[in-house]
Amino acid sequence: MRFQNSRMVFRNRNLTNLFVISAIWLFVSACVFSTSKESEKVDSDSQTNPAANNSGNSSDSKSNLNKLGKKEDKGDFIVQHLGVKNSRYNEIDRKIKNEKLLEKAADDLNKALSLPKDINLRSKDCGEPNAEFDPRIQSITVCYELMEHFYSLYRSEGMKPEDADKKMFAAVRFAFLHEVGHALIHNYNLPVMGNEEDAADRCSSYINIKELGDDGVKAVLAAADAFNIESKQKSTTKRDMADEHLLQEQRFYNSLCMIYGSDSAKYEYFVRDGYLPKERAARCPGEYQRTVDSWVNLLQPWRKDK
Ligand SMILES: [Zn+2]
Repeated sequence: MRFQNSRMVFRNRNLTNLFVISAIWLFVSACVFSTSKESEKVDSDSQTNPAANNSGNSSDSKSNLNKLGKKEDKGDFIVQHLGVKNSRYNEIDRKIKNEKLLEKAADDLNKALSLPKDINLRSKDCGEPNAEFDPRIQSITVCYELMEHFYSLYRSEGMKPEDADKKMFAAVRFAFLHEVGHALIHNYNLPVMGNEEDAADRCSSYINIKELGDDGVKAVLAAADAFNIESKQKSTTKRDMADEHLLQEQRFYNSLCMIYGSDSAKYEYFVRDGYLPKERAARCPGEYQRTVDSWVNLLQPWRKDK
């Protein structure tokens, strides 16, 4: 498989214009990037906690369907501002609060989706690079260490600070939407016939690519680059193989497959330049469409805007 090792896949493409808009990362988002074992454990705990699995009681939900087949809206995405413990994150914390990034994300999500109960959105320093949905406290948290991690990854590939900063916000949007995917699966009690981590990745790809256009594609590309860099910088261990998250290489190819599948003519260079093997690419349009159809159908009773 010829993947050009250490250069980032998209740096030299004509996509720099996509990076311009970026400070608005969150509109919507994704436990993705657990790079530490501890954080992966947190993520898996959240899935095996029986209380969590009861959080979206299906019989209760069914009784709340109105005449249009829509669910009753009993909750909101709510921003919680927490203090910063480590002063090295003061600046990013101030930026996120001043620009009301979480508030904008909450607002967009609340316009789009009904909820059976409130879900909290938080950004803070956590002591590890992670993002997570914790069903016990109904909160999605983006850790400043994760933002720093993304920034460092891009910088390690020679990206200029201002570009790495923009790309970091794009990757965080993918991570945030992955966590939103977990939160929706648990709160709506959605069926998951497969790996929930992969489903959360697909949720983020679906929302980004289908709902958010070029900005969303930029977020998936940024995440793909991060997966690719991480896979080059760290060799795969048994623990990685046993983990519920797919390997970073797989997440990289899956991300490319979703983008390519959304418009195979536009992203034909993925195949031509050797980033996506043609055998996989041939099936990506169908794979993308099935992902979109699945999420559209599952979210439909909860959509306010469609
Ligand atoms: Zn996850």
